[in-house]
Amino acid sequence: MTSVLSTPDGAASTDDAVPFIHHLIGGQRTLAHVDRWGAVYNPSTGQQSGAAPFATPADVDAAVLDAERAFAGWSATPPLRRARVMFRFKQLIEEHTDELARLIAAEHGKVVADARGEVQRGLEVVEFCCGIPHLLKGEFSENVGTGIDSYSLRQPLGVCVGITPFNFPVMVPLWMLAPAIACGNTFVLKPSEKDPSSTVRLAELLVEAGAPPGVLNVVHGDKVAVDALLAHPRVQAVSFVGSTPIARYIYETCAHHGKRVQAMGGAKNHLIVMPDADLDQAVDGLIGAAYGSAGERCMAISVAVAVGQATADALVERLAARVRTLKVGASASDGVEMGPLVTAAHRDKVAGYVDVGVSEGATLVVDGRGLRVDGHEGGFFLGGCLFDRVTPEMRIYQEEIFGPVLSVVRAATFDEALALADRHPFGNGVSIYTRDGDSAREFVSRVQVGMVGVNVPIPVPLAFYSFGGWKQSAFGDMNQHGMEGVRFFTKQKTVTSRWPTGIRAGSEFVMPVMK
Ligand code: NAD
Repeated sequence: MTSVLSTPDGAASTDDAVPFIHHLIGGQRTLAHVDRWGAVYNPSTGQQSGAAPFATPADVDAAVLDAERAFAGWSATPPLRRARVMFRFKQLIEEHTDELARLIAAEHGKVVADARGEVQRGLEVVEFCCGIPHLLKGEFSENVGTGIDSYSLRQPLGVCVGITPFNFPVMVPLWMLAPAIACGNTFVLKPSEKDPSSTVRLAELLVEAGAPPGVLNVVHGDKVAVDALLAHPRVQAVSFVGSTPIARYIYETCAHHGKRVQAMGGAKNHLIVMPDADLDQAVDGLIGAAYGSAGERCMAISVAVAVGQATADALVERLAARVRTLKVGASASDGVEMGPLVTAAHRDKVAGYVDVGVSEGATLVVDGRGLRVDGHEGGFFLGGCLFDRVTPEMRIYQEEIFGPVLSVVRAATFDEALALADRHPFGNGVSIYTRDGDSAREFVSRVQVGMVGVNVPIPVPLAFYSFGGWKQSAFGDMNQHGMEGVRFFTKQKTVTSRWPTGIRAGSEFVMPVMK
């Protein structure tokens, strides 16, 4: 097998070979064309560990046509049998949780325990999809007109596509592929080129679970592969999760090509700390939500809004002590709370935002730049950073940083805090910490954000609810998983039927109405 090694600046060498990570098409590992590829790193060491071949439009075409061939048989497979594949898939994911978690950690950089949590949250979507015969039940009304019955049913769309981000290489693909496939579609997945090994392994488990060849194909690639998928006439629907500029592009391009689309984007999630909040609970919540997975979560909290100066002073003091003592290290090391960032380029981008915050006049209370981890000097590490006195016009407040950087904004009142979350262009998640039921209820009712927590720092809905933000955090009408996922991956048909033994109506030239 061909192998390549590249330096972080992209120069290639075959001296020190590292393996290509295969596509999975028709149930088989394949490499297709390898003229272009992306380097995959172990972020804890900074060493390249693999290379993702970039699919050409011809490779994409082969994957889509293979999925289309599989559609006839799979869509005709009774839902109960499709559910049995889901049950086996669930069992295999459980058996391989540790393997998947270690693959995630080795290429993403999150700590292994966190990666296990990711697998578990993805598994819950598969568990939900085990109930697909029930979820696909339609509606039936007898005698809507004399001798006439009416019913609705949900049918699969055909070949559906998923395009996923680096930060959840197992969970986010499962948000999409599990409902799509359980509903009777076939699926082509284009995972992130930065950490694709766990995604390919996951797809192999579905094949092992009994999904026929072509029901799930995985192709690696960059914009070239994505554009080929978006324009492909045989692709019926596209589910995307990633950054906002690309989400908007996917949404607009799919609309242009007449495809169904859901596109989830970036975030700037606020956590409001009211003066009556349990401060210990708020600090615990903030530390995990801001620095877990090195802040590389779309539901990470990146803004803490303290209501009142006394709340702010106490909050910053307690946060600073915790951020200074965060245990940062290699993702597979014991006792580590935060691993490295995904790539050197991303680490540098996040560190650049810390420079920006300093130049904008925010108070850098804890500076994680320049952190070295003994024995892992080449790793893409950045220590936890904490800013105080951040104001709404600053870039570090406006833009998504996607790293271990928490900004504290000081607000005078509840209304001011609420307005901050409301006016921010992103609207993915938000949380309030308070003991006051009135404030909490008013906040939940008024806030212009899609997912809301009350004394819960990361309000990610469980699999049987649906996931999705508002404003610049999501484009399209339907959210991920839960019943919204089932609706997105099916089209509704409504039937009105009469049998010849009924009343003979004769020809009617006026709009039919119930008599
Ligand atoms: P990204 O937008 O860079 O990449 C996402 C996918 O799009 C990848 O598969 C990538 O190959 C592809 N892509 C990248 N550039 C493209 C282009 N120009 N044309 C076509 N396709 C392109 O995102 P990322 O850095 O992998 O992931 C982090 C982002 O994802 C953050 O913004 C985060 O908030 C967001 N995210 C959102 C959610 C959510 O549900 N709202 C969940 C997870 C992550």
